[in-house]
Amino acid sequence: MISVTTVRRPARTMATQIYFLEILKGLLITLRHFFVNMSRHVLFELGLSKEPGAVTIQFPDVPAMLGNRARTRHRLLKRDDGTPRCTACMCCETICPAKCIHIVAEDSPDVQIEKRAKSFDIDLGLCVFCGYCVEACPVDAIHMDANDVELSAYSRKDMIWSMPELLGDKKKEAHR
Ligand code: SF4
Ligand code: SF4
Repeated sequence: MISVTTVRRPARTMATQIYFLEILKGLLITLRHFFVNMSRHVLFELGLSKEPGAVTIQFPDVPAMLGNRARTRHRLLKRDDGTPRCTACMCCETICPAKCIHIVAEDSPDVQIEKRAKSFDIDLGLCVFCGYCVEACPVDAIHMDANDVELSAYSRKDMIWSMPELLGDKKKEAHR
């Protein structure tokens, strides 16, 4: 049986009606954040704490600080001879929940490798950055460690990264 709890709207009093107390409460919360953060910075500077206080990053003037495990823009890796590692097995395309990877396969001229990608596009406008494609790749051909988070574009078409761009052979150009 589902139980339903009725929550009554609190009655308006004169104090809430004039907002003065609410504004004061808001200012006290802001002041508390200020002093707590300032104390953390002072303790850190004095060597009494290992954690510094919060810092505002002036992004995009200052580059964003990314964690070591941050998932950023994809890149395709190459073999020692400079050819793409991708064997067009389609595992990444199949597992991608956003269906934003599109690969066209062709025969590889190397007899040791059955196939290679003729084209390999990722629509970063649809990607949810789950990392499944990286996990699924059997030949370690795709990584999400390009450290590139500034991916905005002027059109949806420009959010699609092609194989030469993912391999680093061609610079991504934005078109208006
Ligand atoms: S990170 Fe996830 S959503 Fe993005 S391309 Fe890879 S599998 Fe697809
Ligand atoms: S899983 Fe790896 S080898 Fe297979 S198509 Fe994707 S990038 Fe290429």
